[in-house]
Amino acid sequence: MIHLAMTKAERRFFRKIQIDRNGCWLWTAATDKDGYGVFGVGDKYWRAHRFAWSIRNRPLEAHEQLHHLCETPSCANPDHLVLMTPKQHKQLHMSRITHCPYGHEYTPENTYVRPNGQRNCKACALEGTRKLRETPEGKEQVRIYRQSERGKEVQRRYRQTEHGKRAHRESEARRRVSLREG
Ligand SMILES: [Zn+2]
Ligand SMILES: [Zn+2]
Ligand SMILES: [Zn+2]
Repeated sequence: MIHLAMTKAERRFFRKIQIDRNGCWLWTAATDKDGYGVFGVGDKYWRAHRFAWSIRNRPLEAHEQLHHLCETPSCANPDHLVLMTPKQHKQLHMSRITHCPYGHEYTPENTYVRPNGQRNCKACALEGTRKLRETPEGKEQVRIYRQSERGKEVQRRYRQTEHGKRAHRESEARRRVSLREG
């Protein structure tokens, strides 16, 4: 319910609202680059949906975020908004993105999750590493890394895995072929 005793700012706010079929309170005035309504009160600018939620519920903390259930950024209907922490909000939005920007699917095998919750595509990381290794600087980096204690340890462990054993056999076979051809 809208307060019966509305402040001047609130009355001005509701004059900029147009309710659509879905019950969205569409903002008819200025919006920001993300499509959120912008509402000026005194010398403060509000995002329209945050203003609406605040007058309905309580003042919002700066770090608190509101998620649009209706996926309409210009909607300011408090009933279409859910209060979330930035982490929850980020995770919710990420869970809807199933592929990396280059089209690789975020399967558990292909996804590296950083401690902050951000997902990285392993296929893209491998591709980036491969390209880097083709440059002279990259080759030098690999050479230095392989000679380091850490690099030797990683290689030793890799050779014990099934994949590592196979890769080793294959590179040996290639070496024999090139010796025969050479
Ligand atoms: Zn809405
Ligand atoms: Zn959201
Ligand atoms: Zn990718």
